[in-house]
Amino acid sequence: MVSLTVLKAVKVTPALIARFALLPFRRVQNPCLYCPGICLASCPTFLESGNLALSPLGYSRSPALWEEKCAKCWRCTLECPLGYKLPEAFGRPLKIEVEVVRGGVPLLVSVEGLDTEYAEKLSERLGAGLAVVRGLDTRYTRGGPLDRRSLERVRKRLAVFAKVLALSPEAAHALGLEFLPLHLSELGVEIDHEGVVHIPCLLRGLEARIIDSLRKAGARITGADRDSCLKVKPREQVLYLCPRARQLKLLSVYDLIAR
Ligand code: SF4
Ligand code: SF4
Repeated sequence: MVSLTVLKAVKVTPALIARFALLPFRRVQNPCLYCPGICLASCPTFLESGNLALSPLGYSRSPALWEEKCAKCWRCTLECPLGYKLPEAFGRPLKIEVEVVRGGVPLLVSVEGLDTEYAEKLSERLGAGLAVVRGLDTRYTRGGPLDRRSLERVRKRLAVFAKVLALSPEAAHALGLEFLPLHLSELGVEIDHEGVVHIPCLLRGLEARIIDSLRKAGARITGADRDSCLKVKPREQVLYLCPRARQLKLLSVYDLIAR
């Protein structure tokens, strides 16, 4: 829900609302230019700073600011009624490629620069296959659209495997793969941990499945942090499912299961 403060800040007028209501019927490249900021309350850089320049409204007007300050967390895309994908609105198409290091069921998919060390340990522990996707992390750090052809090639390469599991929310989100932490108990993985779990920004719709899966694996989950973004406001007392937590010396689920 957009708060009253935000609505006042963006000066919502009947004319603005009428113009926004007509947007789906027009060919508009950048709907943020006309929007009162419906997604504002989901944007962590805006919530942290209170500065409209550091919100989708600001970023959509300034590619330079977008490049520097937008966290590329994709939270705004879940709220935007027009389906606008601001994290890939600017920048050059990003090519990705995949290397299947060894086949196996399941095939664990790692993103180079993000979770390869965890993936190698886990694949060894589970006797699973391993594939490494290159070039994907940039989409969630610098931002930009994925090169369609290379995306199709990666998808085709992975489609021949019976069960493919992504270690990171990034790989699950970009490639449409199942997220590994949703399959812990069927992999025979147990977790001895008690506390609050962070719901990854990219997979917010999976909260119930995530908590259920962690509990089935033995974790005592006492709550869910669904509002913060690791890249903007990291928290010490929560369990992250994002392998990126390691770069910030925070606890990720892989510190518990990929040892
Ligand atoms: S991303 Fe969508 S909801 Fe957010 S400001 Fe732009 S048009 Fe509005
Ligand atoms: S991607 Fe995240 S940080 Fe960037 S505008 Fe959207 S919600 Fe804000």
